[in-house]
Formats: sequence, C-alpha cells, structure tokens
Amino acid sequence: MVGLYFDNRIAHRFFGWTVPYSDTKIEVGIGISDRAKTTSLVAFRRFVAESDMEELEGARLVNGYASVIPLAARRRTVMGNVALVGDAAGQVKATTGGGIIFGVSCAKLLAHQVKKVVDGKGRLEDYEGVWRKRYGMDLKMHAVLHKYYSTVDSRGLGMFFKMSKLFGSEQFFSKYGDMDRPSLMLKRFFLRGLAK
Ligand SMILES: Cc1cc2nc3c(=O)[nH]c(=O)nc-3n(C[C@H](O)[C@H](O)[C@H](O)COP(=O)(O)OP(=O)(O)OC[C@H]3O[C@@H](n4cnc5c(N)ncnc54)[C@H](O)[C@@H]3O)c2cc1C
Repeated sequence: MVGLYFDNRIAHRFFGWTVPYSDTKIEVGIGISDRAKTTSLVAFRRFVAESDMEELEGARLVNGYASVIPLAARRRTVMGNVALVGDAAGQVKATTGGGIIFGVSCAKLLAHQVKKVVDGKGRLEDYEGVWRKRYGMDLKMHAVLHKYYSTVDSRGLGMFFKMSKLFGSEQFFSKYGDMDRPSLMLKRFFLRGLAK
C-alpha cells in the first residue's frame, strides 16, 4: 500500500510519499516547490519527524538522494538540429512528477520524426507540433489538477476527497481510470458511459 501525504506546510506545492519494498524496507520521499523557503533535506526531516509514521520506528537510513522534477513543458523543444525529449522537454505529469510514460511516448514520436527527416519526408521542427497535439492537452490537465491540490489547504483537500468519494469517484476510476491521460479517461466516460 502506497501512502500519499498532502500538507502545504511541509510538502510545499507537492506531496510526501511512502512506498514499502518489503517487510523491512520502505522508501520515504517528499517533493517541494522550488519556491519553498527551505531545502528538500530540511523538508524531508520535518516530514519524517511530524508524520509520526509507525513504520519508521527504529528505522535506519540506508540510502538517500535528491533530484529535480520539472513540472511544466518547455515553451520550445526544437531548435535547429536539437530536439528535447523527456524531462529535458518537461514532458512530465505535473500531478505526480511521473515522466516515464510521456517521456518514452514522446521519444517514440521523435524517433519517427527523425526517420522522416533522414528519409527526406519531413522536418525536425514538426516534432514540436506532433507531440503537443498528442499529449499537450493531457499535460495541461495534469497542470490544472496540480494547481488545485497545491494551493488548497489540507482541510479543503480532505473535504474534496470526501465529496468525490460521495459522488462515486472510486467506481469512476475503476471503470474509466487512466492516471496518465485524463483526456482518454473523459473520452471513455462519455463514449462508454453514454453508450449504455
Ligand atoms: C524521486 C523521484 C521519483 C520518481 N518516480 C517516478 C515514478 O514513479 N514514475 C514515473 O513515471 N516517473 C518518476 N519520476 C520521474 C522520472 O524519473 C523521470 O521523468 C525520468 O527519469 C526522465 O527520464 P529522462 O530520460 O528524460 O531523464 P533522466 O532520467 O534524467 O536521464 C537523463 C540522463 O542524461 C544524463 N546526462 C545529463 N547531462 C548529460 C551530458 N551533458 N552528457 C551526457 N549525459 C548527460 C544524466 O546523467 C541522465 O542519465 C521520479 C523522479 C524522481 C526524482
């Protein structure tokens, strides 16, 4: 069971997480905005201290690292004979910082575009429009959701989850869920939902 912790005081504009690997090993992490007036190490220590997780009682740190997570696509991803893909292009879900699915998907589009260029059937600049047309809307929808959860306070967020549960969000996600592409999720909902 993965744990997610939302509290703007500690995980400023992002969230904390726990991912158990086994009975004796757990990953604990926290993301904070670059606008937070603290460092990620200080925020991490505060998160561990304040969350009071019983899984961490008597625990020992075996490894640790910090990294940058881009949360917005770059305005321009092709210039001359250089094209950006993955984190370098900001092809990342702003909600979670997950960049594997979009990065790999865009890498595939870029590979096709490079093949076209080599075959003399296309221009590298067209990659810009190709990937934005396919995934731009989904990334924007993630950005809107991220803006919501990163600005609302913990009480408001608790209320939001309670209300969405009341309106049957669990059934909705199990039926139409796609945590990467919200646009596909809505498409499924309207097509399958209305087809019934
Ligand atoms: C803590 C954390 C947890 C994450 N969890 C998830 C998750 O659960 N799911 C998910 O989808 N995403 C997750 N992500 C995001 C995911 O790791 C990235 O989106 C993904 O790794 C981006 O891949 P990339 O190839 O674009 O960039 P990178 O993985 O950053 O690869 C870039 C590579 O280029 C190398 N490099 C840099 N400069 C040069 C240079 N000048 N010359 C040669 N090589 C160079 C770097 O060393 C690196 O190996 C997580 C990120 C973090 C920080």
